[in-house]
Amino acid sequence: MDVQTLMDAALAGGACHAAMLDQSQVVLSDSFREICESNQCGGYGRCWMCPPYIGDIHDLMEQVRQYPHAMLYQTIGQLEDSYDIEGMFEAGAVHAQVSQQIQQAVKPLLQAPFLHLTCGGCHLCETCAKLEDKPCRFPDKALSSMEGYGIDVYQTAASTPLKYINGQNTVTYFGIILFSE
Ligand code: SF4
Repeated sequence: MDVQTLMDAALAGGACHAAMLDQSQVVLSDSFREICESNQCGGYGRCWMCPPYIGDIHDLMEQVRQYPHAMLYQTIGQLEDSYDIEGMFEAGAVHAQVSQQIQQAVKPLLQAPFLHLTCGGCHLCETCAKLEDKPCRFPDKALSSMEGYGIDVYQTAASTPLKYINGQNTVTYFGIILFSE
C-alpha cells in the first residue's frame, strides 16, 4: 500500500492532518470502557455502534491488534469560545461527515479488510435505530469510536506529528484506519 496515497485520500476527504503509525504506536487501555459506562456523553446504550452493543472491550482491543499498520487523522473545528457547546456539536457533525468521506475514499485503496474507527460513535442518524429497537439503518456505513475499542487517543497521537490540542477556541477530533496491507 502506498501510504502517501492513503494519506492524500484522508486529506481529500476533509481531514486537516494525517499520519501513519505502526501497531506498536497504537496505545490501548481497557479503562476506556469504564469511561463509556460513566456515560458523560449520554451515548452509552443509545447507539448500535457504542458500548455495550459493540462487545467486550478486550475482544475489540484484540481486533485492533490484528492490524500491523494504522493511519491517524484529525479534523479541527473553530469555536466562539471554550464554552461553545453548540460549536463542539457542529464540529463533531462535520467530523462524522469527513469520516464517511474518508471511508469511501480509502475503500478502493485497501486490498484486505480494514477497521475504521472515528470519534464519539456513529452520528449518522439523528436518532439511532437502537432507540426504536430496530436494526441499524446503514450497517455498511456505521462507524464505532476509537475509545469504544480501547484506543487511548491522547497517547496514540503523542507519538505522531498530530497535536491533540490545536490552539485556543478550537476543538480537535480524531479517527483511525487500521489495515494490513
Ligand atoms: S447508522 Fe444510524 S442506526 Fe446505524 S448505528 Fe449509526 S446512528 Fe445507529
